[in-house]
Amino acid sequence: MENIDLLIINAHILTMDDNLTEYPNGDIAVKDRKILEIGENLSNKYKPEETIDASNKIALPGLINTHTHAAMTLLRGYGSDNPLNVWLEQYIWPVEGKFVSYEFVKDGTDIAIYEMIRNGVTTFVDMYFYENAVADSILETGVRGVLCTGILDFPNPGAKTPDEGIEKTKQFIQQYKDNEFIFPCIGPHAPYTCSPETLRKAMAVAQDYDVLFHIHVAETEWEVGEIQKRYGTTPVKHLNNVGVLNERVLAAHMVHPTEEEIELLAQKNVKVAHCPESNLKLASGIAPVPEMIEAGVTVGVGTDGTASNDDLDIIGEIHTSALIHKGYRKNPVVMNARQSLAMATREGAKALRLEDKIGTLEKNKFADIILINKSEVHLQPMFDPYTQIVYSGKGLDVDTVVVQGKILMENQEVTVLDKKEILEKAKMWRNKIQNME
Ligand SMILES: [Zn+2]
Repeated sequence: MENIDLLIINAHILTMDDNLTEYPNGDIAVKDRKILEIGENLSNKYKPEETIDASNKIALPGLINTHTHAAMTLLRGYGSDNPLNVWLEQYIWPVEGKFVSYEFVKDGTDIAIYEMIRNGVTTFVDMYFYENAVADSILETGVRGVLCTGILDFPNPGAKTPDEGIEKTKQFIQQYKDNEFIFPCIGPHAPYTCSPETLRKAMAVAQDYDVLFHIHVAETEWEVGEIQKRYGTTPVKHLNNVGVLNERVLAAHMVHPTEEEIELLAQKNVKVAHCPESNLKLASGIAPVPEMIEAGVTVGVGTDGTASNDDLDIIGEIHTSALIHKGYRKNPVVMNARQSLAMATREGAKALRLEDKIGTLEKNKFADIILINKSEVHLQPMFDPYTQIVYSGKGLDVDTVVVQGKILMENQEVTVLDKKEILEKAKMWRNKIQNME
């Protein structure tokens, strides 16, 4: 009998690997933070430190949120239902200008991480300011993050100039480059807030340090018009002309690419973070996701910040995504349940270039595992688990969350953050923001 750290038994395992291998009654052995074996009757073979009986539960890889601004949980619901410019100019930017600090980002990220764990998210991509605060939240809780500070051409809470932003990013990358929970990257905000020169400098850093280049692209029609006005072309082609369109790019939104640009994205192996609920709430439009997937583009799913979503529920996100693409095309066979769930797991990992570490339940990958309670009434009868999770499920059905072999939530109780403290922090910031001059 080999000693191991954790054994999950009797689970209905959806590995989400390329063949969608399933174990209707399977076990998962975890040792040294990684998956050692998946199979049947593993209790005969291993002596675990800890055992989880997952009878009546579905085991899935931890969900991946490919685009968010975690600290913006403090602005959830603030100034909703206004035109975009009013929302930004009268609500979001004044609060950010006054309050964004280490404390704001730390508290906002703690709240976001609580919510993400509760909803089965084990890895998230974050672009904001004071990413050192986000890194601290991650190290305290044990989730995984791909983190970058937003770089802009004008002064912002992260830096006074784009060069300062890039320099600070280099230091951040050096600090965390060998960490298994924090994957630093570089985050030029968008083609309309970063000059070609800033974009090129940022890409040079991405190449030098072998990290992702995370950017918002083709989010709104306004952006498409603005890029046309300034550079005489469309956003994706503009990035290509500047020389920064390649396999390191993780482009958030991609609501308005042309057909030709979709081909270009596939050719250059650009990854896309699809944020359907944010695109709906801000009235940006509906991204051509089925067309991008058809063309061979890797598409993951993201929530964007909660100020424009307004939650961090990835199961909710793939539910919305599946429905809007069917409805928009009047075609019920686009974005099926398996494809949608893959977007939240395996494809999300590929979008982050972390597919050798996370995204599926397979031997030697990090033990990032979630268990979904299959005995909830709204999931009955269980004809097909993929269908039931995507169309009937909710993030709150997640019962247990394991990251790198460590249990972060069990029986729907988050064990690494104190709910009472989280609620106090939310209340404290609501009062500050509501009473600001
Ligand atoms: Zn965003």
